[in-house]
Amino acid sequence: MKALLVVDVQNDFCPGGALGIHGGHKIVPILNKYIEFFERENLPILVTRDWHPKVTKHFEQFGGVWPMHCVEGSPGAKFHPDLKFPKDALVMSKGMDPEKDSYSAFHAIDLSGMALANLLKTFGVTEIYIGGLATDYCVKFSALDALKGGLDVFILTDAIAGVNLEPEGSCLALEEMVSRGAKKTISEELILCLKHASTARPK
Ligand SMILES: [Zn+2]
Repeated sequence: MKALLVVDVQNDFCPGGALGIHGGHKIVPILNKYIEFFERENLPILVTRDWHPKVTKHFEQFGGVWPMHCVEGSPGAKFHPDLKFPKDALVMSKGMDPEKDSYSAFHAIDLSGMALANLLKTFGVTEIYIGGLATDYCVKFSALDALKGGLDVFILTDAIAGVNLEPEGSCLALEEMVSRGAKKTISEELILCLKHASTARPK
């Protein structure tokens, strides 16, 4: 069973936001294409959001690395207005613990409090396709945790963008994910391969 994980495509991570990522908004139409495809195939779609309290060690004014961003309920924490996902997509929040950075989607919980790993288990997910923001933080840590959890991990390389705090941050992150066992894919390849799988499946 495959699932799509869309990581932190929020206003604050797009240009003009508190922690705007260069080109962050450009992945939105590509992610929409993936979302449409997973929806058509009736495969689970999980959408995470950074959802911080105003005071957290994650922010530079309280000892962290980052300017204040994605404060729960703020306009910056909203999903990018062009990101389109179905009503039954699972919205997962992370970063609520003021003591932790919580980059990984595996720290996220859904509205009922269920953790991502448990949800994936419930759905019987064995392969996870990851896109979103940012390549070098939340996407990377999510991918590494997914690999640790024994999942097959595919990085949607046409639907990610990085912060690049260090100039090569995104490249190094991608290399690290691949060296730990993640595979890279792009929309055309994935859609072709999923189409093939669904036509091959007995009806
Ligand atoms: Zn954050």
